[in-house]
Amino acid sequence: MTLLSVEDLVVDHRTPGRPPVRAVAGASLTVEAGEVVGLVGESGCGKSTLARAICGITAPTAGSVAFEDRPVRPLGLRRRDPELTRIQMVFQDPYASLNPRRRVGRQIADGIRDDATPGELLERVGLDAEVAGRYPHEFSGGQRQRIAIARALAARPSLLIGDEPISALDASAQAQVAGLMRSLAVESGAGLLFISHDLSVVRLIADRIAVMYLGKIVETGRTAEVWDDPKHPYTRALLAAIPAPDGSGTLPAELPGDVPNPAAPPSGCRFHPRCPSAMDVCSTREPVPLDGVSCWLYDTAGSAAE
Ligand code: SF4
Ligand code: MG
Repeated sequence: MTLLSVEDLVVDHRTPGRPPVRAVAGASLTVEAGEVVGLVGESGCGKSTLARAICGITAPTAGSVAFEDRPVRPLGLRRRDPELTRIQMVFQDPYASLNPRRRVGRQIADGIRDDATPGELLERVGLDAEVAGRYPHEFSGGQRQRIAIARALAARPSLLIGDEPISALDASAQAQVAGLMRSLAVESGAGLLFISHDLSVVRLIADRIAVMYLGKIVETGRTAEVWDDPKHPYTRALLAAIPAPDGSGTLPAELPGDVPNPAAPPSGCRFHPRCPSAMDVCSTREPVPLDGVSCWLYDTAGSAAE
């Protein structure tokens, strides 16, 4: 069953006196029940904005989001559609998302919608039930993120979204928390959309990977296919940039510059100024997705029609 269906989603950020910034520029994505989808891309590519639109926190400019076959009604952060408690989000900074002045058990209890107890939920995330009486500052970063996950699980979500949930953690906690989110989603039959800039962690837990660049999904596929045989030049660059175990490694030399300004995106394929394989067609015409890849290298018919 398709749990989440995002179609041609566009989200513009508007600031008075400035041109709108198209943070999400026509992205399509699905998550099946029980499926773990990893959404990867550099920071600033629109991943968080996409997540916020899925949850109904941010209103789309165009396109649609359907969750459990119903359209998501954007109402903002404080007044969310009650149905949308079945989508729960875990954010990057667990310290910011937990109230420092309230015992963690109380914070988990707030979200409980059945007869579960905070202690049971803490045990599900690998903590002792007894820690319910403690305050957030008494925990490590990884433990705090487990508490944030316990609070998300309290609502019995059918879709869990992690927005960079491990990027503030140290390396050993990263793999543990990522693996925990996967196993909790799988055992409860929920879907998981796991957002990260780190492809090497995503590939450990995701069934499918979606690669985002400057507001668009440029490649999607089964994890092993994307990892072993990346098609899009940007996916290849992300793979090549994965640091060696000694911590060295950055975006390779053939990828000049940073992510362009989304307020003035490049014409044609948005990746063309950085792409080592760019052809003439790339700067003038936007590639159409074909078998999960949006790149003229794989659409010879489209290229020829130019
Ligand atoms: Fe590179 Fe052209 Fe493919 Fe864009 S469409 S990724 S510029 S080859
Ligand atoms: Mg982000």
